[in-house]
Amino acid sequence: MLRPMLRIRRSVLWALLVALVLSLLVTLVWLAGRYENSEIENRLERDASEVVRDIRSGLTRNIQSFQAMPSGGSSVDAWLLAAAELLREHREILRLEWRSDTLAILSPVNTPYRPAIFERFGRDNAQADVASACSAAKRLSGAAYSTSYFVPQVDGLGLEVMDVCLPIVAAGRLSGYTVATYALQDLLAELVSKQLVRGQSLSFTEADATRLALHGPTMRGSRVFVARQLLDLPGNTLVLRLESRLGLQGLFPNVLTALVTAMSLALMVVLFLLARDMRRRLKVEHDLGEALAFRKAMEDSLVTGLRARDLSGRITYVNPAFCQMVGMAAKDLLNHSFPSPYWPPELADIYQQRQTIRLAGNNLPREGHESVFIRPDGTRFPVLIMEAPLINAVGKHTGWMSAILDVSEQHRVEELSRASQDRLQATARLAMVGEMASLLSHELNQPLAAISSYATGSLNLLKDTAHTPPAALSSDLQLAVSRIAEQAERAGKVIKSVRDLVRRRDQEREAVAPQALLDAVMPLVSLQARKLSVTVVMTVEPQASAVLCDRTMVEQVLLNLARNGMQAMQNLEGTANRVLTLQVRPAASKGASRWVEFTVIDQGDGIAPGVASQLFTPFFTTKVEGMGLGLSLCRTVIEQHGGFLSFEAAQPRGTIFRFTLPVDGPHLFL
Ligand code: ADP
Repeated sequence: MLRPMLRIRRSVLWALLVALVLSLLVTLVWLAGRYENSEIENRLERDASEVVRDIRSGLTRNIQSFQAMPSGGSSVDAWLLAAAELLREHREILRLEWRSDTLAILSPVNTPYRPAIFERFGRDNAQADVASACSAAKRLSGAAYSTSYFVPQVDGLGLEVMDVCLPIVAAGRLSGYTVATYALQDLLAELVSKQLVRGQSLSFTEADATRLALHGPTMRGSRVFVARQLLDLPGNTLVLRLESRLGLQGLFPNVLTALVTAMSLALMVVLFLLARDMRRRLKVEHDLGEALAFRKAMEDSLVTGLRARDLSGRITYVNPAFCQMVGMAAKDLLNHSFPSPYWPPELADIYQQRQTIRLAGNNLPREGHESVFIRPDGTRFPVLIMEAPLINAVGKHTGWMSAILDVSEQHRVEELSRASQDRLQATARLAMVGEMASLLSHELNQPLAAISSYATGSLNLLKDTAHTPPAALSSDLQLAVSRIAEQAERAGKVIKSVRDLVRRRDQEREAVAPQALLDAVMPLVSLQARKLSVTVVMTVEPQASAVLCDRTMVEQVLLNLARNGMQAMQNLEGTANRVLTLQVRPAASKGASRWVEFTVIDQGDGIAPGVASQLFTPFFTTKVEGMGLGLSLCRTVIEQHGGFLSFEAAQPRGTIFRFTLPVDGPHLFL
């Protein structure tokens, strides 16, 4: 629900940002354009006033030249000379006239650069203009200009001209007028500085924008810049129009706009890149979020406690499983240094030392170590801790990471299974002892009967001393007593072996020679062998080293296997085939063997496939009086020693039971 909302908000914000930037850019470009335009207009305006100033000062200079011309009393020739000189120098003056005070033309001179302008229609057409200018000049006592007028020319074109009239005053009296005729077009061409005009067009217009004279190219188009200035002359006012096409080339009218546009484009590109970067960031953020969520889910569902410590031993991280295990909140554990709050007070010192040594040495056992932790309610529980150095992304060692397993349940199960194993063993032993007892009673009957008959015989000998010579009596008695002693000793051995078997001893491991093991069980094995008419063959290879084992238990295994083998042969026809073989040799291996192999081979009926699969199942038996505990017990004992119990069919008949025991030596690990 939150995500789509966020996405919509983000898109709206982005759209807003793009719109803002775009409008800002458009405004900037527009403003820059306007600024440039106003700059051009200002410059044009300035240029126009310059032009006006140029024209005005040119006209003033000309008036001064007119005033300096010889007139009045001077000869006409001198005037004509001066006028011709002036006309040569000033191309803008088309004609100079010396007029009388009644405005009659005394002597006119035309410019040498053009055909005489009034040639086609005569001078009289403009008489009114001249007259008004001269009357104004007279009134002003200075130069005055006429309004401009058009003079058609011989070549079919025409010129817009303007007269200036300057009164000639001699001895305080008006003696005549100097009238000069200007071509407006030439005024623009001659009086205005060439630099100002370059690339622009200058023209004189009337107030209604009718063009009177033009200098420079004609300009058309919507983006022509125009500046107007009034050329205010005594008697006439002209409008000067300056047109420029500056800045019209290209899409961008000028550098500033181009610059702003370029910057805007750059801004757009940056914005685009930023958006792309942002998109990537969002993706990474999203991926990171997913990874974090996954990690969190993983941590939360872990049953193994996790704990991280920095190099100084302070806890930097604990997962929920750890908190639950020690019954404390994460905030109470974090930043906690030694002694940790879950250490039992009586063990804190030992743990502290152990921790210091372990962390300083940097060689942590991979299989971990066991400790006891305490919960705030005082309950203690065993844990298995596995520690590893914490290496960060740049390969720096920043602390220690520990995985902690609560092993109380495991311990409980182990304890239970050990107890039941003990019970099982005890039961098995009792069952066997019961069986042995019946065998013993039967077997002990023999020596006891023998003893009793030897004793009776001896008594009879002693009663009958009269008939027996003392020497013979003594040797007979000696024989009888020594037989008694022999039988008694045999009976004693049988009893002792049973007692050894039944008496529960601590599981002490000791080095025992294989021969010694066989010798220990032999009296009982022989006892039963005799009963079942079985021949026992025993071979011990001399290379077979002493084995490290719990002697009584291994003897029990041998007894069990031997007994089973003998029982398997009891139904055989004839007694010749009833052979039980006991072999001991080093287990087959490449180097010096670290195991000794014990083999018990019978020639019985063998093991049926249905029986084989259940052979080691406790209480599985095929015998009427069997307990079904022997083999399962045997396997447990052998596996406790690190060995292996197996069986296979013997050829041509019978079964081979095989087990291994470790050789006594320093290289052993059990
Ligand atoms: P029990 O001897 O009390 O029956 P065991 O666990 O020693 O208990 O043996 C389980 C069963 O395995 C026996 O009942 C027997 O059927 C079979 N068995 C054991 N050893 C042999 C053997 N050497 N040959 C044939 N069968 C055997």
